[in-house]
Amino acid sequence: MFIREVTPSFIKNSRGERTVQIGLVTYEGKFKASAPSGKSKGKHEVPSYNSKGIDRSMKLLRAFCKRLENRNFMIRKIDDLKLLVKLVRRFEARYGRLGGNVTYALESVFLKAAAADNNKELWEFINDEVNKGSKPKMPRPVGNCIGGGLHSKLIKGRRPDFQEFLFIPREKTFSRAVTVNLRAYEYARKLLRAQGKNDENAWRTNKTNEETLDVLKAVAKKYKLRIGLDVAASTFYGKGYYNYKNKNLIRDKVDQADYIERMIKKYRIFYVEDGMQEEDFSGFKEILNATKENKFKSLIVGDDLTTTNLRLVRRAVNGGAINAMIIKPNQIGSILEVKNVVNFCKKNKIVMIFSHRSGETMDDVLADYCIGFGGQFLKTGIFGRERLIKLKRIIDIEKKLK
Ligand code: PEP
Ligand code: MG
Repeated sequence: MFIREVTPSFIKNSRGERTVQIGLVTYEGKFKASAPSGKSKGKHEVPSYNSKGIDRSMKLLRAFCKRLENRNFMIRKIDDLKLLVKLVRRFEARYGRLGGNVTYALESVFLKAAAADNNKELWEFINDEVNKGSKPKMPRPVGNCIGGGLHSKLIKGRRPDFQEFLFIPREKTFSRAVTVNLRAYEYARKLLRAQGKNDENAWRTNKTNEETLDVLKAVAKKYKLRIGLDVAASTFYGKGYYNYKNKNLIRDKVDQADYIERMIKKYRIFYVEDGMQEEDFSGFKEILNATKENKFKSLIVGDDLTTTNLRLVRRAVNGGAINAMIIKPNQIGSILEVKNVVNFCKKNKIVMIFSHRSGETMDDVLADYCIGFGGQFLKTGIFGRERLIKLKRIIDIEKKLK
């Protein structure tokens, strides 16, 4: 594909923060991609921007993009992105880092153009290579209904310590699952007497974790949903202790694992993300082993633990710490790395959850990555235009494949 023009710009994400968007013009058409931004980021994520900040990243990106114009790129498969990555590395070695958000947007826009150049949808372009062209399975949505932690402002000084209270429908089709989640979301607002929404459009509350789980369970029963949690334990961990603000108590490592295990049993929780702090592999293992005694299956999910980084994923999987993991491409800033992680997960039967970030954009490419790479779940909010656009993209693909 012949690169006619590459134009980076700033746009605002759903939190109103600046992020990077990149426009690309080829003879096949015009494409654009943008990067989301996390707030409860994992310590081992690649830096989103240059150490001198987003403005420095943009300055470097503008210079880099100029060098791409009037060049021809042959991208017939994902691995052909290597040429672009090589150019980025060479540039960065001389002028400084662009940052993971920037490289993510750059690779995404190139992949969108490459898919069109090959007369394929992006999910198809990926799927044909990664899943050898077999008909893709639709993922299931994991929807954030009620929020606490870093994503939610305090209400009269309180909020749940856990970051996300999630619904996972059992419906056969993705579109039906999205509808059920929306109904459940509305019912939760009523039961909760919710006081506004948080960063991801989940309901805000000043209830404790367990009071919120009681509401979640009541809604789940009515709509036959499974429930999940993103504890995001690192966000309230420090100096060896988990500091629970809402109940004003602290837990050490043993108490924390025990508490999470009790919650899983009491509420029959299907999905638990980051139940322990991000460097506690043995704590994750303790929870995973404990759930094996239960009569129901639970997914013990790494997010901050693994940060879509193959080295950490290997450590977590080989050490028996997780049976599922979050994939957030901008945590590692490279789709080629995502592909390596996906291959490793497949080989080891690790369930993959492709996930949005709390600060999202109107780019729906995450849906294509999820289907193309064969993710079993897509985690987004339930409501809000930046979340709905990704859900809609899956619904559209599902319809097309029927
Ligand atoms: C998460 O922790 O799963 C999440 C989406 O948060 P953030 O994007 O703020 O890192
Ligand atoms: Mg998380």
